[in-house]
Amino acid sequence: MSFDLEQDLNQRREQNLYRRTRMAQSPQAPVMEIDGHTYLTFCSNDYLGLANHPMLVKAFKHAADEFGVGSGAAHLVNGHSYYHEKLEEALAEFTGRDAAILFSTGYMANLGVVTALLDKQDGVFEDKWNHASLLDAGLLSGARFQRYLHNDMGNLGSRLKRSEARRKLIVTDGVFSMDGDWAQLDGVTELAKQNDAWVMVDDAHGLGVLGESGAGLCEAQNQSQDDVQILMGTLGKGMGTAGAFVAGSKELIEYLTNFARPYIYTTAMPAAIAAATLESINIVKNEPERRVHLQMLIKHFRDGAKQLGLNLMTSHTAIQPVLVGDAQQALNMSEALRQQGIMVTPIRPPTVPVGTARLRVTLSASHSLEQVNQLLDALAALSANTESN
Ligand SMILES: *Cc1c(COP(=O)(O)O)cnc(C)c1O
Repeated sequence: MSFDLEQDLNQRREQNLYRRTRMAQSPQAPVMEIDGHTYLTFCSNDYLGLANHPMLVKAFKHAADEFGVGSGAAHLVNGHSYYHEKLEEALAEFTGRDAAILFSTGYMANLGVVTALLDKQDGVFEDKWNHASLLDAGLLSGARFQRYLHNDMGNLGSRLKRSEARRKLIVTDGVFSMDGDWAQLDGVTELAKQNDAWVMVDDAHGLGVLGESGAGLCEAQNQSQDDVQILMGTLGKGMGTAGAFVAGSKELIEYLTNFARPYIYTTAMPAAIAAATLESINIVKNEPERRVHLQMLIKHFRDGAKQLGLNLMTSHTAIQPVLVGDAQQALNMSEALRQQGIMVTPIRPPTVPVGTARLRVTLSASHSLEQVNQLLDALAALSANTESN
């Protein structure tokens, strides 16, 4: 039977890799109502606590009164509103680029850029730990697809040197989503210059969170548009709304407008989302104290977890995974935390390599110090239990 779906599902269950959704009955926040229980959560990407911010809600409602709910058409038809235009200008200015183009999701932005720029004459060089959407984009483009060892410039350099591709595109996550570490962009951009390649950075987890003004990893590492030609950012994480954008030269944006199929053949995001995101950029720029508080929580969590003897990764970001190893054990620990009213997602293969299952703790500026202490206490109780067993 070719469509024996049950067999595949059963196999997932047996391997402890089965997934299902849970239902929230309250807005995104540290304390949430989920599946009828109250949880203290450490699993969202709402790093600055903006997803339910009253100013964003107000801007959203105001724009919905003006422009309705649906945009009704693609950007190139008549779905591109005043707020979309303003947001593209604001994102270009915020990230220090000449221009920007909106996409409805980050996944689509990545597919759109890589498939528009590359075909089978070209080569794409991806960090081994890149997000699934970047890997899919590289494969779909038809370009010669290579994955270099994580953050390994020697490996990337020798692959670039050997390549005879027409266009060479290096693609990397800014902050790696399952480990929380970041790319060393000066190494990447130097190799790109030596090998006549371009660099694309996916800053989904850096935008809003890193850099003096919150403009992300490129700001933090001083990488201009001449170094990183293609900057992709998502709006559904630190920015608290939804959608994504690509920023770069005017020519790049004009090219994507004409060739990026996931831009052309899809409905524009609602204007109200764009309006709310404009408000979000203001807050990100003008309230650096959110980033300061988040950094304090990150340090506090790391210090506390180290004292408990937990296995942390070398991450300075809001993503603070606790390495467990075995998928079943990661699942058990997440379940034990859940019974204490704390929600932390277990991350298992195939999202991460076999043997590196982990609890993916994410912190937000909306958490209090006391809430992080609650998590540390719960983790301490867990390790005390495993030791006495
Ligand atoms: C979340 C994420 C995406 C996808 O963005 P969406 O807007 O959620 O589709 C792309 N890249 C990375 C690194 C991400 O973490």
